[in-house]
Amino acid sequence: MSPTNAEVFAHAQAVIPGGVNSPVRAYGSVGGTPAFIASASGPYVTDVEGRQYVDLVGSWGPALLGHAHPEVVAAVQEAAARGLGFGAPTTTEVELVDAVRHRVPAAESVRLVSTGTEATMTALRLARAATGRDLVVKFAGCYHGHVDALLAQAGSGLATLALPGSAGVSAAVAAETIVLPYNDVDAVREAFATHGDRIAAIITEAAPANMGVVPPAPGYNAALRELTLEHGALLIQDEVLTGFRVGYSGWWGLEGLREGWAPDLFTFGKVIGGGLPVAAVGGRRDLMGMLAPVGPVYQAGTLSGNPVATAAGLATLRLADLAVYAKVDEAAARLRDSVTKALANAGVPHALQWAGSLFSVSFGADAAQAGVRDYAAVQASEHWRYTPFFHALLDAGVSAPPSPFEAWFVSAAHDDEALGRIEDALPAAAQAAAT
Ligand code: PLP
Repeated sequence: MSPTNAEVFAHAQAVIPGGVNSPVRAYGSVGGTPAFIASASGPYVTDVEGRQYVDLVGSWGPALLGHAHPEVVAAVQEAAARGLGFGAPTTTEVELVDAVRHRVPAAESVRLVSTGTEATMTALRLARAATGRDLVVKFAGCYHGHVDALLAQAGSGLATLALPGSAGVSAAVAAETIVLPYNDVDAVREAFATHGDRIAAIITEAAPANMGVVPPAPGYNAALRELTLEHGALLIQDEVLTGFRVGYSGWWGLEGLREGWAPDLFTFGKVIGGGLPVAAVGGRRDLMGMLAPVGPVYQAGTLSGNPVATAAGLATLRLADLAVYAKVDEAAARLRDSVTKALANAGVPHALQWAGSLFSVSFGADAAQAGVRDYAAVQASEHWRYTPFFHALLDAGVSAPPSPFEAWFVSAAHDDEALGRIEDALPAAAQAAAT
């Protein structure tokens, strides 16, 4: 007989810190036993007890096409049969980079890495090398991976666990990070007025989705571009989460492309690997040319551009055409509507925040009235209402993200049947949130 989730979790906790290999998976903020997933297909995941859920976690972003898309799986199997890794360049890497550049031409040159964390870490190193400056500006509630310099007031798992930052980051490193409130151009202006000639870069999530979804106010990203140019700092647009998920050319395609501006550096991850470990840093050719072996900025990786992982990413990007994005957008819009209606019917004041196909809910009258523009507003919301909401959904076979500070991930595989199952579960969940 297969073990239960509780049995696996008990064993896992004895041998893995918290029983998980990434904190938010532990259900820390919602309580209970995490489902240990045995398999996944399309919009569904199935746990070790054989229970199937409609999945809204989407592997935290990569599963744009749904789980185990047959053509992606075939590409992985073919690549694996040719060899799991060579530590030498392959044509698949070049093809994947070409696919990225085709979608985001401002990424003139691209280096593949294995995780979003590596991508942002490399972008920071490049920015410091290029400017000769040390300080970096980040925004409260934005998450850029577990880079020492970027953990202060980060969202994602740190928001879930209510941590202001991480122990183990040296005071010297922490002192080089300026944390500002999101969506506040004046705060950025002030930071430049005070520290202008010492700021190497601003790093920002293209559209933050790690404190729940908090879209940039109209013109905000463009203002960051203007201010960084004015003060000789770089703009790093982190599209690890939004890249190739919210649209063919990521968030930049929705916003920057239209306005005709580009950041100096982009970071990508998640969808670019189709579920396997691929991420990337890309941008201005002159900056990227500073990386070893051409330039003096060192960066490397045994698994970088791994042939199996890049095959998954390439197959995913080849399949993710405009029709896929239209489908994901449509499914997300339908679900946003259904969530709003269910909560309104249950009399639960809330704000439904969204950016492209990403969305999340903030509970409470303040959120409903004033909207949610920054991390302070997110933290002031009635996020405790998410726990009963989440568990009612889970009991009804719907796996929402196990934290109110994460985006809901819809895929192109979320068809009428899957969406209908979520909609059937919503009224009871909304009632649970009301109490
Ligand atoms: N940047 C953003 C915007 C992210 O959402 C994440 C992960 O959630 C990262 C960076 C870090 O990526 P990874 O978890 O692959 O290290």
